[in-house]
Amino acid sequence: MKQAAMYGHTYSLMGADQETTMPPDAGPGRDEIATFMFGKTHEAFTCPEIQDVLSQLANAGDLSPDETHLVRRISQGHRRAKALPADLANAWAQTTSSAWRQWTEAKAKSDFQIFLPALRQVLSLAKQKASALDSSIHPYNALSAGFEPGMPVEEIRRILSALREPLSKLVRKISRATPPSGICLKGFFLLEQQERLSQVVLRRMGFNFKSGRLIVVPGHPQTITVGPCDIRATTRLAVDDFRRGFFGSMHEGGHSIYCQGADQVFDWLFLDPDGIPISMGIHESQSRMYENLIGRSLNFWTFFFPFLQTAMPQFEEVGLEDFWKAINISRPSLIRVEADEVTYCLHILIRFELETAMLSGELDPKDLPEAWNAKMKEYLGVTPKTDAEGCLQDVHWSKGYFGYFPSYALGNIMAAQIWLRMQEDEVPSADLRSGQLSTIKAWLKSHVHKWGMAYTAPELIKGLTGGSLDPEPYIAYLKEKYAQVYNF
Ligand code: ZN
Repeated sequence: MKQAAMYGHTYSLMGADQETTMPPDAGPGRDEIATFMFGKTHEAFTCPEIQDVLSQLANAGDLSPDETHLVRRISQGHRRAKALPADLANAWAQTTSSAWRQWTEAKAKSDFQIFLPALRQVLSLAKQKASALDSSIHPYNALSAGFEPGMPVEEIRRILSALREPLSKLVRKISRATPPSGICLKGFFLLEQQERLSQVVLRRMGFNFKSGRLIVVPGHPQTITVGPCDIRATTRLAVDDFRRGFFGSMHEGGHSIYCQGADQVFDWLFLDPDGIPISMGIHESQSRMYENLIGRSLNFWTFFFPFLQTAMPQFEEVGLEDFWKAINISRPSLIRVEADEVTYCLHILIRFELETAMLSGELDPKDLPEAWNAKMKEYLGVTPKTDAEGCLQDVHWSKGYFGYFPSYALGNIMAAQIWLRMQEDEVPSADLRSGQLSTIKAWLKSHVHKWGMAYTAPELIKGLTGGSLDPEPYIAYLKEKYAQVYNF
């Protein structure tokens, strides 16, 4: 398992490198190396010795309930990997590696036709993969189980559908209200100042810089595990908008702190040759909690605003409350990663409906741009002018990540549930106002982080709240917050 983890971490490091520093002509050579590393990961993880040990452990009878859970989780991952024939695993690595390049070029030129053949190939492989994993279930279930085990497509649909009406209603209500002025956010923000500010906030959050780095990159921000005590978070800065870098850093900081907080026993454990830490929803609950419930709260800025004013003097004359309202302005927009808290999940709903339609064959990939634009119009009332700001904006499908998007919405929902639970222990509000983010981190470590990959999202939420995943607290949180921001 340690070997699998070593190959797997190297494979993820290559993925991060591809998106940051790799020169353009290195692509085809990189495809070969990545395919080789993926094959090695798969081979190491599926070796018969692991299966023997897992069966011995399953029958050992002297494991604690937590250990039993963990063994079960690893066994599930092992079974999934074994169900994937080696040639299909290799084709998967090869195709997704080159599809990423087609997607990059298509996005840069805003030309969907460049990406279409690669999308067809990845989709076809995704269907083969789903069928190899478990032909008796909906292909979406087979694929999404790699990101969100324990959440069948029907359950995801139920939860996402429950968001649709309340969120659309809130969007309409906001559109009729007078928006706060966002003028204070306009300006020119030195990149060095922004980078320093990101470091300051991450330090406050409890990010351990001895076992992690925050790196500024031109591409999409992400967090990867390179090995034990080695977490690399990336952030992207914009000179004309400090929010992108700041909240992006808090988001990736949330992912990183989660990884750093897992018990040591997880250091060399491995669950999926795709390198996806289970579950993405739990991961997103942590990143989005730091980015939104903390980072976009008035309590947090009550403490942190003076730091911002020192780092960026253009905020010296701005009032705290005006600033807080400005960073929470909600407006339907085209780009998911820049969407505000109210509209964000509607972006996810669109992607969920499109990817399930592509997998079931109801939507031919060639019709994706049109279908995308129609759904944007229907759900958000905006229409992309180009495919780059439309169906080409996200990297996921080029990497074969069908079934991944719902985890973002589930993360929002879980974040609100975990936050509520934390309030029962009287943790967040006062600590936030006084800048005591360490209390929050300590609570999260003992209730969420330390369990690492041992529990699925439904299991974790059940353990914390006694109930199931429930969108209600998230909806209630948004309604209450936006009533304040927009003076309803
Ligand atoms: Zn994230």
